[in-house]
Amino acid sequence: MHIDARTLDNGSVVEGDLCLVGAGAAGISMALEWIGASQRVILLEAGGFDYDPRMQELYRGDIVGLPYFPLQAARLHYFGGTTGHWAGFCSTFDPIDFEPREWVPHSGWPFKRAHLDPYYARAHRVLELGPYEYDAAQWQKRDAKLVPFPLDPSVVWTKMWQFSAPTRMGTRYRDAILGAKNVHLYTNAIVREIDANEGASAVDGLSVRTLEGKQFRVRARHYVLAASTIQNARLLLASNSRVAAGLGNTHDLVGRFFMEHLEMPSGVFVGLGERAPDTAMYAFEWGRTKARGELALADAIQRQRRVLNATVSLYPHDLDEAGQSTFQRMTPEVLAERRRAGDRAAEAAEAQREAAQQGGADRAFHLQTRQEQAPNPASRVTLSTERDELGMPRARLDWRLTELDRRSFRDFYDVLGREVGRAGVGRVQMRPWVLEKPDAPWPSSVGGGWHHMGTTRMHPDPKQGVVDPDCRVHGIANLSVAGAAVFPTAGAANPTLTLVALTLRLSDHLKSKLA
Ligand SMILES: Cc1cc2nc3c(=O)[nH]c(=O)nc-3n(C[C@H](O)[C@H](O)[C@H](O)COP(=O)(O)OP(=O)(O)OC[C@H]3O[C@@H](n4cnc5c(N)ncnc54)[C@H](O)[C@@H]3O)c2cc1C
Repeated sequence: MHIDARTLDNGSVVEGDLCLVGAGAAGISMALEWIGASQRVILLEAGGFDYDPRMQELYRGDIVGLPYFPLQAARLHYFGGTTGHWAGFCSTFDPIDFEPREWVPHSGWPFKRAHLDPYYARAHRVLELGPYEYDAAQWQKRDAKLVPFPLDPSVVWTKMWQFSAPTRMGTRYRDAILGAKNVHLYTNAIVREIDANEGASAVDGLSVRTLEGKQFRVRARHYVLAASTIQNARLLLASNSRVAAGLGNTHDLVGRFFMEHLEMPSGVFVGLGERAPDTAMYAFEWGRTKARGELALADAIQRQRRVLNATVSLYPHDLDEAGQSTFQRMTPEVLAERRRAGDRAAEAAEAQREAAQQGGADRAFHLQTRQEQAPNPASRVTLSTERDELGMPRARLDWRLTELDRRSFRDFYDVLGREVGRAGVGRVQMRPWVLEKPDAPWPSSVGGGWHHMGTTRMHPDPKQGVVDPDCRVHGIANLSVAGAAVFPTAGAANPTLTLVALTLRLSDHLKSKLA
């Protein structure tokens, strides 16, 4: 059922059992789970069904740390959320990502990877991925061309990835949501403040506005913030009528531990031998590849070297964009053009690949690293002094990295270079900055993957995390968070598959609570 909030009477009160704030990857995944349930679900989406520059402008914020994408370009503010832009690259987090690692401060999840397996399998269906299978040998059985490099897997292994179409959730699931009698989608409903009771131990309701100035209130038995990592933190911090520091922020943790994946061109791989090495396993073509491998360091090596987790993908050598940071080559204009181009993007990639091969470049590949960022309390989202058009303080992002982040890059390539050399597969040449000391400044190619994680991290101890292992905000009985904001560590894999899996887990938990 769909209601445009602009048609409501000013001062209305909307009531339900479960209220979800935000209809992006997390909010829609959860709403789908409740279709046909006996509970009344209120799904509040700030935007409408299409991109609107005025709505998008509400996302603008300050960038005060390392350079970052403009915040108003890094997330989409309408039904479907940022799945309107995402590329669909998916892989699971590795078991080591869930462990407390004594060389990675603040690491460790409250459960092991195996606990997430059933939810990952369900998330595969939501994101329309292939079979829940990430073993390279199994993929080779399906397709004999997918041959991993003959490396020692106790040093460097082939980590599998899968690719969603990509599923644009706003389009794919619009009819299902609109057709559901018990799910009430309110579009143009911008949540401005979470109103807590006197002791700030429970949420009483939400103050919601439309861009045209209408105000209404939503009351439910339980509330879930699914507004994306930066906006979830902003909402909690700006909900400061009862507690000056904001809700859930007793221990000054809301907004802290903001994490990205460091996605950076880091070197070149050149294949050795009479014939160019077989790289079909590592190749990628937009719109066609369903699964491919990337190279990653084995757990034992990560422990021995005391480094972060990372994977590296191979790209044809002649791609002129490979030396640039993601901030330089993935500007909002480039993204808009890619979307407009639709299938033509796949054709262009194919032509580029063929040109590279004709030039004999099938032996040479750029190495694009994707590395987890160490959890860092100083890397954080706070409130700006500037306010948006509705009077809400804007977000202020201070993205910071540590020496561990820098050293891990160097060690990764040291191990990879030795192993591909030993196995006679090829040679690795690192970019000069990779070899610099860990305290050297980051190069201008420092870049992220548009992956926002942390800010309301999960931990059983309220002094170390904003949400508990069930994703409920510590100290607030009826408020939970869905999305990558709850990740305690970032893993090397892109976040959406894991955040959808966690959302399905939260949904199951709330079903037993609200039965
Ligand atoms: C260019 C790009 C490429 C990407 N590629 C990948 C990829 O290949 N693989 C991958 O795993 N991830 C990728 N991502 C990241 C992926 O898009 C996010 O992980 C995912 O969309 C986050 O889901 P979410 O539900 O937390 O947030 P969103 O999808 O952003 O949804 C949040 C929703 O909340 C709404 N909202 C916000 N504030 C309010 C409010 N106050 N009141 C009401 N509603 C509100 C928003 O309008 C939005 O609809 C990419 C991102 C970008 C930008």
